[in-house]
Amino acid sequence: MKGIGASPGIAIGKVLVKEETKVEVEKKSIEDTKAEIERLQEARERSKEQIEKLYNHALENIGKDEAKIFEAHMLILDDPEYFGQVENKIKSENANAEWALKTVTDTFVAMFENMDNEYMRERAADIKDVSGRVLKLLLGIDTTDFSNLDEEVIIVAKDLTPSDTAQMDKEKVIGFVTEIGGRTSHSAIMARTLEIPAVVGVEGILEAAQNGDTIVFDGDEGEVYVNPEEKVIEGYEDKKKKYEEFKEKLEELKGAKSVTKDGVEVELVANIGTPKDVEGVIRNDGEGIGLYRTEFLYMDRDKLPTEDEQFEAYKEVVEKLEGKPVVIRTLDIGGDKELPYLDLPEEMNPFLGYRAIRLCLDKTDIFKTQLRALLRASAYGNLKIMFPMISSIAEVRQAKKILEEVKEELRSENVEFDDNIEVGMMIEIPAAAVMSDLFAKEVDFFSIGTNDLIQYTTAVDRMNQKISYLYSQFHPALLRLVKQVIDNAHKEGIWVGMCGEAAGDPKLIPVLLGMGLDEFSMSPISILRARWIIRNTSKEEMEEMVNKVLNMATAEEVEKFIDENISVL
Ligand code: PEP
Ligand code: MG
Repeated sequence: MKGIGASPGIAIGKVLVKEETKVEVEKKSIEDTKAEIERLQEARERSKEQIEKLYNHALENIGKDEAKIFEAHMLILDDPEYFGQVENKIKSENANAEWALKTVTDTFVAMFENMDNEYMRERAADIKDVSGRVLKLLLGIDTTDFSNLDEEVIIVAKDLTPSDTAQMDKEKVIGFVTEIGGRTSHSAIMARTLEIPAVVGVEGILEAAQNGDTIVFDGDEGEVYVNPEEKVIEGYEDKKKKYEEFKEKLEELKGAKSVTKDGVEVELVANIGTPKDVEGVIRNDGEGIGLYRTEFLYMDRDKLPTEDEQFEAYKEVVEKLEGKPVVIRTLDIGGDKELPYLDLPEEMNPFLGYRAIRLCLDKTDIFKTQLRALLRASAYGNLKIMFPMISSIAEVRQAKKILEEVKEELRSENVEFDDNIEVGMMIEIPAAAVMSDLFAKEVDFFSIGTNDLIQYTTAVDRMNQKISYLYSQFHPALLRLVKQVIDNAHKEGIWVGMCGEAAGDPKLIPVLLGMGLDEFSMSPISILRARWIIRNTSKEEMEEMVNKVLNMATAEEVEKFIDENISVL
């Protein structure tokens, strides 16, 4: 069965199905509605106690950011609008609390689930999680407990709620497979943070797997087998052993240089979303940060972050990196990332719409606040600023002009900042790639964002499952653009990095080395593997291969050629 690989590693073990307790709710007529509302209040209070425990458990065992999910749950429990509607339903219909809660929740969930935006759709999961907890308390049903397992298991579930993942015993849960969810769902993010192998979005897994069945999967590839033949299990045991041996070998690369066999050194850096991710960067020996996606600072809250809040976050990151380069990208909101409190009108094509630098150049107060915070933090380390979604020369010039104005403001206030701060831009729109010769005269560096560059070059929505077979990092059109960008950057004497997922792709790394890419930025868990590949590749040999690849006709041809002639893994 096939799903989406959500967290790397090989898992072989026994299934534990998370029972979806069928909660049957019927409408009943109630006389004493006041007592019914009190019963609801009591269940709310007890839910709060449970969530507080989960919050503390997550804070101690997982991390501040993961614990935050439960702050969001608390907010839902405290939401007067939501529970006000439930109470009204009880009163107006003389109905039981269970039915009133379920009816109101269904409306809220439907509203969130129908939103275009994946992030908002995921919020529906939070509401379900909270209401499910209150409902079970009202009905006196026990919730599945993953904290007290006595053997190793692989959890199979429709979806895992934050409450499930937060109480998991990391020693016992050796993997999980879910029927729904994407790479950005809570369960997928949590799996990567906990470094537990996981596959999500496996249709039909709940019908196929039962308690005690044997299940094996590779969290990179997304292929899942239930009760496979002994031969398959042996194959995976072998794979697991090799994976673990390889991981141990990678440990030895901590502290080593990212240098090719023929002596060319490149920079191997990390993508992060919050200051907390720095821990993983340091643990995996990242040589800096190639992309700090600042939009997470703006999300999961109800108003814009202040200049000081932002300053603290940026300062924390540059200080922890102790002088190593930190590329911080200005706000890239829009597309799949929304800020409800900005109250932006819905768009037909959000990925082609009012987003990122376009929004910042329009709402300059938001942009200036961020630039002030970035400049102030630049006094504490090696900070570089990067603009996202640039499609025209006018936009870079305008962004730089505003940056100069902000610098002038800080100077007049005698606030310290790095006057020689490097300013770069993302190359993620074909127009910018095609005109990179001219863009290279405007900035100090480029970072190629392949996630978007693939989607815009091939006109394939990166979130649309149905056409995902057309979305490929091996597409010759993408590779030609990448080569062109690198050459144009070097002609102007600026450096060029890549921070899209393709930069960490083990098959593409040698090709990118051959093309002359200077910096590779990826999720922290991929760094040591990339270093191993770099150290086992000769740039000169790759240069010849690049010419062949650039003349190929299809993505399949490119991938096959790499598999047969280039791959070192
Ligand atoms: C990209 O587009 O490749 C990129 C790194 O940005 P994001 O994934 O945040 O759009
Ligand atoms: Mg992008």
